Amino acid sequence: MSEVLLKEFRPGLWLSELSLADFDVRGAVIVGERSALVWDTLSRPADMAPVKALLGDASCMVAYSHADWDHVWGTAGLPDCVTIVAHDLCRVRFDTDVPAKLDAMRSQEPGQWEDVRLIPPAVTFATAMTVDLGGVVVELHHLPGHTEDCLIAFVPQWGIFLAGDTVETPFPVVGEAAAIPGWLNSLERWAGDERIETVIPCHGDIGGRDIIQANIDYLGSLTREAPPAVSDTLSPFYVTTHRLNLKALGRDAL
Ligand SMILES: [Zn+2]
Repeated sequence: MSEVLLKEFRPGLWLSELSLADFDVRGAVIVGERSALVWDTLSRPADMAPVKALLGDASCMVAYSHADWDHVWGTAGLPDCVTIVAHDLCRVRFDTDVPAKLDAMRSQEPGQWEDVRLIPPAVTFATAMTVDLGGVVVELHHLPGHTEDCLIAFVPQWGIFLAGDTVETPFPVVGEAAAIPGWLNSLERWAGDERIETVIPCHGDIGGRDIIQANIDYLGSLTREAPPAVSDTLSPFYVTTHRLNLKALGRDAL
């Protein structure tokens, strides 16, 4: 089982990075003067051990980027972070697909996921929410597309855009084709926001707004007449993802 690496990205911002069987996942911790915000708790309670050590007695809260398993299953590892914030639809998913996914993983890999406890968000919102941690303000914005409950976290004073799974490298995972137009609209708005200096997705490379643009280009290309060919150096996970993305649009891969 791989361990989370927690590293300081800039003063007040730490990134938690984990390698899973098929892909890597990244969370973050934003530390203000009064409290801290943990952006995703990754895949199991033990993943949060370095975050817990970093926070010590500090007041903290958790924000879920969305309810997919690799982002929200580690919350029991932060028993002192009692406030959990997420989108309204993330809360709904804790009654539907989140427990179903845990049941499925427990039967696929017996004994591997017994320590996971599902902890739904207690504070939810529909459009946006601002959190003042003391000396640093974090804006949470709904950005559906990958899933209907996706959020991004924007820290204007640092130019930091925590993209969750709304943006990914090499390309994102499409949930439902019907969500793509709205997804593209939101991404285009953010891609034009000059306050953003650094884009930090939960999966893949960190970069600038060019990463948002690359995701716009990919999503746009899925709907064009000739489906895009993608590099054959992709990992098996992304080869499959591309095929499933095309399938979500009722198309076949080349
Ligand atoms: Zn993910």
